[in-house]
Amino acid sequence: MTDCLFCRIVNKEIQAKIVYEDDYVVAFDDINPQAPVHVLVVPKKHISTVMNIDDYEVVVNAFKAIKKVAEIKNISNDGFRVVVNHLGRGGQSVFHLHFHVLGGRQMLWPPG
Ligand code: 5GP
Ligand code: ZN
Repeated sequence: MTDCLFCRIVNKEIQAKIVYEDDYVVAFDDINPQAPVHVLVVPKKHISTVMNIDDYEVVVNAFKAIKKVAEIKNISNDGFRVVVNHLGRGGQSVFHLHFHVLGGRQMLWPPG
């Protein structure tokens, strides 16, 4: 989708600090990091929200990439958090499915 920010990052029309890429995802540093490590794992296929997934291979491939990102960022032993925000109360602001990978500090519970 040409008017989708994350599709434009996937298509390299907008720059991002890419951490990992394969046939299924692009993972890049969040522009407004909420932790020392804050990577967005973005399926290359445009899916607007977690409620609109029609092919769950997308999720399998995203979690494979999350493992790679955790290794690259060296947070797998200390621990990290994976977050998907959905619509208004979930705090979603970009309507292209993405997984936040947050680490490098102690995560709090309950989340804000
Ligand atoms: P959401 O609020 O939809 O769960 O997450 C969207 C995330 O995208 C936010 O954490 C926000 O900081 C990040 N973001 C928004 N615009 C850009 C951008 O142009 N580049 C990058 N790297 N991250 C972005
Ligand atoms: Zn998109």
